[in-house]
Amino acid sequence: MNTAPRLVSVLGSTGSIGVSTLDVIARHPGEFSVYALAANRSVDALLEQCLTFQPRFAVMMDETAAQRLSERLPADCPTEVLQGESGLSAVASAPEVDSVMAAIVGAAGLPSTLAAARAGKTLLLANKESLVMGGHLLMQAVRKSGARLLPIDSEHNAIFQCMPVKQGARPDLAGVSKVLLTASGGPFRTWSFEQMREATPDQACAHPNWSMGRKISVDSASLMNKGLEFIEACWIFDLAPDLVEVVVHPQSIIHSMVQYLDGSVLAQMGNPDMRTPIAYGLGWPERMASGVAPLDLVAAARLDFEAPDEARFPCLRLAREAVAAGGTAMAVCNAANEVAVDAFLAENLRFTAIPQLIEGVLERVSIVEPDSLAVVEAADDEARAVARDLLGQLTGRTTEVNLA
Ligand code: NAD
Ligand code: MG
Repeated sequence: MNTAPRLVSVLGSTGSIGVSTLDVIARHPGEFSVYALAANRSVDALLEQCLTFQPRFAVMMDETAAQRLSERLPADCPTEVLQGESGLSAVASAPEVDSVMAAIVGAAGLPSTLAAARAGKTLLLANKESLVMGGHLLMQAVRKSGARLLPIDSEHNAIFQCMPVKQGARPDLAGVSKVLLTASGGPFRTWSFEQMREATPDQACAHPNWSMGRKISVDSASLMNKGLEFIEACWIFDLAPDLVEVVVHPQSIIHSMVQYLDGSVLAQMGNPDMRTPIAYGLGWPERMASGVAPLDLVAAARLDFEAPDEARFPCLRLAREAVAAGGTAMAVCNAANEVAVDAFLAENLRFTAIPQLIEGVLERVSIVEPDSLAVVEAADDEARAVARDLLGQLTGRTTEVNLA
């Protein structure tokens, strides 16, 4: 093949998804070239990546970190350092860029993800919080610009693979009767409420099947990750919420399924390694090698399924209620969860108080139509302020939060 390499911006390049993305890219020299790398403040990691991939730009969100990176880049490195939100959005929307990997964690990823969608890029979407928060805006931007949205979250990537796709990567829902969103159940699947009440951040981050960043690991433990993915599925595939069913599948071999009117169920399977959906997104519509070991079904031996337990994991219900409430409720739910997870990781909130805090915020913040980025960001700000206020009522980790 004698075509020019595809130019890729990797936003959140020092994180778990970012590193896996660069691993896949490095396996295909000549097919991809890194246009930009972006991270929050990890100078050492970004410097190392710049030396290896020689991008045109490196963006650091943090100003001091940007300064330090500029000072440490050798003179013969072609990389120019940019800083802050404007830098992120610039490398997400630059005319030369073909694909943007949106892998910043949390609401912080929304403006740059939106910039890539508005610029009509091939958007490889890992940053689920941006869709949960600003789904209406993001999907509208994708439709208007003709951007291609390729889901990287393994479940949505699986659903995408199990659905016929129209031109421009739009999934075709004809004949679909249900989407079965699989959940591993996380590290606390078999724990009692009393055990979860004492759970530490390290226990919550010890996922049985996946190695991921700390925020999404806590979300997986509380099942809020599945709640966010439920919302994500409704937006990406334009699905009525009652068409999405969560099924717990502890082995994480099936990454999700689509059920059709004729009774057929299509499943996408593979080892739990994010390089598979990443390679699918980078190579689409072609398939390419990802470095993931082939699936050995005989070694896996069995696939189990069970219904989620919403009494022990109320986050799933909260996400469903946020979808039903509509408007900025999903942004509020997401923001409250981010504050709760940060507090839990800092050992200022019990694991079992995470859903209580989110519910308390959802009860207190009023919901409006999410018709601009400013409105969505205002809802996010307000929800964070209310969440911090509720947190402030706690005296420390030993106090059980009671928000009722
Ligand atoms: P991570 O914590 O490992 O990495 C986050 C990255 O975002 C880092 O590069 C960090 O520097 C950057 N970042 C953080 N805050 C930033 C800010 N304010 N501005 C700019 N950059 C910032 O997270 P991760 O596990 O790689 O997850 C990234 C996203 O992908 C999340 O939205 C997560 O839900 C989603 N996702 C992850 C996985 C997984 O297996 N890790 C799977 C599916 C979806
Ligand atoms: Mg997922």
